[in-house]
Amino acid sequence: MTETLKPEQHEFQAEVRQVLDLMVHSLYSNKEIFLRELISNASDALDKLRFEALSDDSLYAGDAELRVQVSFDKDAGTLTVYDNGIGMSHDELLENLGTIARSGTRKFLDALSGDARTDSNLIGQFGVGFYSAFIVADQVTVQSRRAGDDETWQWVSDGQGAFTLEPIEDETLGRGTRIILKLKEGESEFLADYRLRSLISKYSDHIAFPIQMHKVQPPPAAEEDGDEDVVDVPADPEWESVNQASALWSRPRQEIEDDEYKSFYKHVSNDFNDPLRWSHNRVEGNQSFTTLLYLPEKPPFDLMMGREERHGLKLYVRRVFIMDAAEQLLPTYLRFIRGVVDSDDLPLNVSREILQDNALVKKIRASVVKRVLGMLEQLSDETETYQAFWKGFGEVLKEGVVEDFSNQEKLLKLARFASTANSDAEPTTSLDDYLGRMNSGQDKIYYVTADSHQAALNSPHLEVFRKQGIEVLLMSDRVDEWMMGHVREYDGKPFQSVAKGDLDLSNLEDEDAKKQREEKASEAAPLLERLKKALEEQVEEVKVSSRLTDSPSCIVLAEHDMALHMQQLMKQAGHEMPGSKPSLEINPDHPLVTRAAAVTDEDRFSDWAHLLFEQALLAEGGQLSDPASYVKRVNQLLTEA
Ligand code: ADP
Repeated sequence: MTETLKPEQHEFQAEVRQVLDLMVHSLYSNKEIFLRELISNASDALDKLRFEALSDDSLYAGDAELRVQVSFDKDAGTLTVYDNGIGMSHDELLENLGTIARSGTRKFLDALSGDARTDSNLIGQFGVGFYSAFIVADQVTVQSRRAGDDETWQWVSDGQGAFTLEPIEDETLGRGTRIILKLKEGESEFLADYRLRSLISKYSDHIAFPIQMHKVQPPPAAEEDGDEDVVDVPADPEWESVNQASALWSRPRQEIEDDEYKSFYKHVSNDFNDPLRWSHNRVEGNQSFTTLLYLPEKPPFDLMMGREERHGLKLYVRRVFIMDAAEQLLPTYLRFIRGVVDSDDLPLNVSREILQDNALVKKIRASVVKRVLGMLEQLSDETETYQAFWKGFGEVLKEGVVEDFSNQEKLLKLARFASTANSDAEPTTSLDDYLGRMNSGQDKIYYVTADSHQAALNSPHLEVFRKQGIEVLLMSDRVDEWMMGHVREYDGKPFQSVAKGDLDLSNLEDEDAKKQREEKASEAAPLLERLKKALEEQVEEVKVSSRLTDSPSCIVLAEHDMALHMQQLMKQAGHEMPGSKPSLEINPDHPLVTRAAAVTDEDRFSDWAHLLFEQALLAEGGQLSDPASYVKRVNQLLTEA
């Protein structure tokens, strides 16, 4: 008696339903990519099997001829993609084909607009994958047996929200996965030998395993009826390879077409867009290896979220796939680079632990970094392309300025900033541009950091620089403050924050201006004394400013203190911020300051002093410890006025 079990019923995770829905609508005009995605997954499954079999070759179970097979049944309206790769167990089917594991998926979905055109771009970046089968199929059946297991499981779904899972008896499957698409009405173009062959060579020629289709016999010439796709498949057909089946990166550069590089990129990156650039190199010597590195055009949506997510290159050893995301081959700040490293000399049983301090790996990594920076340097000659690239990836590259000291100068050369010399907010100024525009007598690179471009642009610290026509770099990325804490100079010129430390512009000042300033300082001495007393708790020192021309006062931090807007962030994140007290600088010519000086009553004077301090704090992106008192003071003074 055979027991009949009811198939298990499962719901898709809510995110999957949403992705499915979006995909079907926004990618319809690109529907043929589903085949690329299924073949790509099949090839990954073959890679994984070959890797696991390195330590346990019983997994091959007598079938070591790894392959992908694509076939169709016109009458049934089905298209089948089969691979004898690693396969999936019950739990893996449940996990892999019912949920989306990538962190940030929710955020990503919220960012979608519902406009098919924009969404198709975004969803492409997200990685399309298995679910793209539902663009052309109204039912998908996955039959799979995990290598080494003896159970075959069948997963079936119409892509509407649920799927079933049940064990099946299937003598023909053996190990691996068979995906059967029941094509939607109107999709019969994919039931044609010629069409499928041309899709495979268009998208999957670079796959290193044979992709096979049935050998076909051309129809007898006499029956020729003009329809080119009338071909006979014999009853027990033979299979033949329709792709080159050699690892793309192992072929000589001059023999590879750009389109092949591009479709390989899509395979390794899960990116839907073309790459911006690539670099393919072979290093020969006592250590030999090949690298094929790609620069994406657009940042993936999670670039700044999970610093480690999908970070790294695919590692192969003598054409055998070893691991994905081999992060040892790439520093974190280059986590957006995609591609392949194939080493001739690493052992096949290399593990992540071994990679960690392996001399050869270090050598490969250094070579990868050098290639990438070289690629970026070349790209930087193409001003517009590079600016667009920098907008997407600049923040990440700035991490490298701190983390990769040996390449700091190169990375600084690649960096672009907004500047007082440009009217727009875009980061388009390089440090070399800045040096080229420096005034005679200027010996420093001036910059200001703030939490937004507007705040940087309006910083009172810029006043004297505007007046004297000195360019200042405007930095408002989160990483800027941290980065600038780790750089000393560029091309021999030190960096100087306009908001920190003593500002010595004396060698840019003429003698008269200098004398005037010194006179003012001595005249203001009694006022400074009074201010200092009133603001004892808040400030370290009160000085006459050489920075201000229009504002009454500004806050100046010690050379090594963190900018106020960053201190604020750190406090919000629960960090203690010890730091020293800032200084207050005043502009003795400003009417508010002269009025304050004229106040004789010490209590009233204290109000004025606090006002000057609090205004300066606000302008700097700082936060008032007692906003209500500030408002009261302002109101009172306004009323009196
Ligand atoms: P991705 O390939 O980007 O991870 P997919 O949605 O394409 O996302 O696939 C999800 C997972 O399902 C894969 O990571 C893999 O583990 C598994 N999978 C898909 N197709 C196959 C296959 N043919 N053989 C084995 N596992 C597969």
